[in-house]
Amino acid sequence: MKQRLTVLGSTGSIGTSTLDVVARHPDRYEVFALSAATQVDLMLAQCAQFRPRYAVMASSAHARQLADKLQQSGLPTEVLQTPDALQAIASHEEVDAVMAAIVGAAGLAPCLAAARAGKRLLLANKEALVVGGEVFMAAVREGGATLLPIDSEHSAIFQSLPEDPATWPRRVDHVLLTASGGPFRTRDPATLRDVTPAQACAHPNFSMGRKISIDSATMMNKALEVIEARWLFNLAPEQIKVVIHPQQIIHSMVQFVDASIIAQLGTPDMRVPIACGLAWPERVESGAAPLDFTQLAALTFEEADATRFPGLHLSWQALRAAPGTTAVLNAANEVAVAAFLEQRIRFDQIHALNLATLEAVEPSNPDSLDALLALDARTRARSAELMARL
Ligand code: NAD
Ligand code: MG
Repeated sequence: MKQRLTVLGSTGSIGTSTLDVVARHPDRYEVFALSAATQVDLMLAQCAQFRPRYAVMASSAHARQLADKLQQSGLPTEVLQTPDALQAIASHEEVDAVMAAIVGAAGLAPCLAAARAGKRLLLANKEALVVGGEVFMAAVREGGATLLPIDSEHSAIFQSLPEDPATWPRRVDHVLLTASGGPFRTRDPATLRDVTPAQACAHPNFSMGRKISIDSATMMNKALEVIEARWLFNLAPEQIKVVIHPQQIIHSMVQFVDASIIAQLGTPDMRVPIACGLAWPERVESGAAPLDFTQLAALTFEEADATRFPGLHLSWQALRAAPGTTAVLNAANEVAVAAFLEQRIRFDQIHALNLATLEAVEPSNPDSLDALLALDARTRARSAELMARL
């Protein structure tokens, strides 16, 4: 039987890499539905290539444009425009697996729908888990979903851990997330206030979406990943460590109680964790180049400098604070990154705004999707006010 897939965020960096892997295995995967925000022409091309039953766009204007173009091209894909269209394609009874590759808290509702419907949920959209926390994990348990990490670090940890999660607490001492250090790893921290969005988006090893590129430059991406690891692997905050590894060959590691360390290695190419999630526990060809050890100059490691990357430590603080604090941190950071990309705040003000928002917003111990979305909205409003005072 072919696996029927919904790809949420199919026009993005992870979405297109997912379809690249899918296209290599027409015998194994079939696309049931695709979703995107605004890129109508790319979505049209994807519909022509993969022939999904449904496509969803974020606004009705873009949905209309797509529907017109599909009709002109004689393509049968139906454009769904209901307010809950994303949840519908994520939980449809004919869907086996959902690739969650929307960026930000916007992906939370469809992730929860897929989890509750017991799907195989391939999670790239880390913000959804950072916001959802316990509510997200409860939906996975109650729905009987299979949650497979796509973030490369978490895929590495997942591949390094024993298969039976019941054994993790007694066997695992801690996990080590590796971080590239981003484009500003060696830049004088005093000059960081004046960097531009273009400089911050110039990641050394990957071409990624703009939001995660800025998060890599501030290392807020790693902060979100620490929180993501806490939920995916049921770890205490102190069991999650971060080390900078600029070559991005070791994608992360697990240290066991006997001091043995298991790491996962490979060329930095997101098609590897994507193929791993799609095929797990099988393995399929991903399109990535294999690692040539004779061509590696060196694997180096360094500690993350707290002056240069002040946001990293907010993750452990947020995990130890009241439930809902990680949702506050995520919303503040989404507001701050969007403002930086629009050149409304400076690079160093991203952290200033995150801190100010954490201090100003009392989290509400959210226990449902509605409560999470309300906390997210309340935080965004407060961040916008605080931004005016920076
Ligand atoms: P991207 O910006 O390239 O793509 C985002 C996708 O989501 C696009 O298809 C866009 O149309 C859609 N989208 C954006 N906002 C939306 C909204 N409000 N409603 C519906 N759809 C919306 O981002 P990306 O780099 O592909 O990252 C996607 C997710 O995967 C992020 O959570 C990111 O942290 C995570 N991730 C990315 C990488 C990577 O290498 N790019 C690696 C690990 C994890
Ligand atoms: Mg990552």
